[in-house]
Amino acid sequence: MSQKVRVRFAPSPTGPLHIGGVRTALFNYLFAKKHGGTFFLRIEDTDQNRFVPGAEKYILEALEWLGISPDETIDKNEKFGPYRQSERKQIYANYSKELIDNGWAYYAFDTPEALDKARKTQEEKGNTFIYNHTIRETLDTSLILTKEETAARIASGAPYVIRFKTPVNETLHLHDIIRGDVKFETGLLDDKVLFKSDGMPTYHLANIVDDHLMETSHVIRGEEWLPSMPLHVLIYRAFGWKAPQFAHLPLILKPVGNGKLSKRDGDKLGFPVFPLEWKTEEGIASGYRENGFFPEAVVNFLALLGWNDGTEKELFTLEELSASFDLNRVHKSGAKFDPEKNKWFNHQYLIKQEDQTLANDFSPILSEKNIDTAKFDLDKIVSLIKERANFVSDFWEMSDFFFVAPIEYDAKASKNWKEETTPLMQQLIAVLEEISDFTSINIETIVKDWMTTNEIGMGKVMQPFRLSLVGALKGPHLFDIVEVIGKHETIERIKHAIQKF
Ligand code: GLU
Repeated sequence: MSQKVRVRFAPSPTGPLHIGGVRTALFNYLFAKKHGGTFFLRIEDTDQNRFVPGAEKYILEALEWLGISPDETIDKNEKFGPYRQSERKQIYANYSKELIDNGWAYYAFDTPEALDKARKTQEEKGNTFIYNHTIRETLDTSLILTKEETAARIASGAPYVIRFKTPVNETLHLHDIIRGDVKFETGLLDDKVLFKSDGMPTYHLANIVDDHLMETSHVIRGEEWLPSMPLHVLIYRAFGWKAPQFAHLPLILKPVGNGKLSKRDGDKLGFPVFPLEWKTEEGIASGYRENGFFPEAVVNFLALLGWNDGTEKELFTLEELSASFDLNRVHKSGAKFDPEKNKWFNHQYLIKQEDQTLANDFSPILSEKNIDTAKFDLDKIVSLIKERANFVSDFWEMSDFFFVAPIEYDAKASKNWKEETTPLMQQLIAVLEEISDFTSINIETIVKDWMTTNEIGMGKVMQPFRLSLVGALKGPHLFDIVEVIGKHETIERIKHAIQKF
């Protein structure tokens, strides 16, 4: 790539970042890293009505948690700053004047009432109302006023907006890296508002001015922005600027059926759609972080939503992704969100963690249950159960019997405690008492020898043995449990079960 790669993530701080937005950020990050370029974050906060306090901080925190923080942003390498559009107001005002002066934009003074009336007139004629070349010269705009008249209207304090003057009849042949060649008819576009009466630019103007000034080389964003592409290319042309290259990412679809995965789907469908929890007065929307996902797992599953490296490989570190990412391999069609697969990804990252790390994460859960963690070999316990867990929060259910003796016994399994079981369990106690090297493998050998020698069926001993220790027929390899809880406790538990049945 000859041009220096500079890509941006440009969210509007209107609430928590949706997982789709996170994927957009990730793909920008990966593209930048792949090409030794820069990934920057710009806050597009020109719509004052939709501004939500806390959203900006949330966005930065989410990217940081995922390990994909921008190289440049607010308070960080502010070469092209400010990175908050609300702090760049004057820049946009000047550029909108430039478009007026060179004939690419015009003032529109229409009141809301006048616009309503114009809409009705069109609808009565059976037309859809589009504010564009078909009617713009019949409306209250600077297109039909002299320079002096326009200046006088503005001086009198008449409210106005600045609209783009879309070319009447042109076919735009554009290129999108993901979607290939795309065609647009300018005659069908509307004359979008670029600058509002409140002195603020709209998204379209601010976005193009900033992408130019911040030297954006590639615009990588969600498919919902594809319809804006012709307008954006025209604005670049109006300024005489070179447009960046565009890549519109496929939608993220609901797990079942069709349609975009929306912010509202999240907890309703039983999984989070936000990276971090988001608290408001109306309640809490859950987050991947608080649900026990590892950031590496979230990054990994998001990367595969609409992309793969051309092989069957599914597990990628961030570094591997950065090395193999290729926009040409991003799919055109929507990517179905699979919450079960996401858990599988988390499982893969969980089993890769050091036992000690997992033990540290498990500790607070145990303390909450009043377990004195110092008394147990947590690393060992974690190593025995992690193969079957997706989350650290699964651990307690899978391992409670290591910490507390069963009080109740699974009803169905208890029915198998026959009359002959009690004497067998008493013999088992005698066998266990004799064992001095109390390690899993040794205990297993000795107990099994005893069974073979005395022709005792496996199930007759193993099931009630497990029931005595665990309270149910679940858990890891039985002799591993025996080793961990130790001789004394094992025998106590068998005695207790004998009493109970
Ligand atoms: N502010 C827009 C958004 O919220 C940015 C779209 C773009 O990347 O151009 O998604």
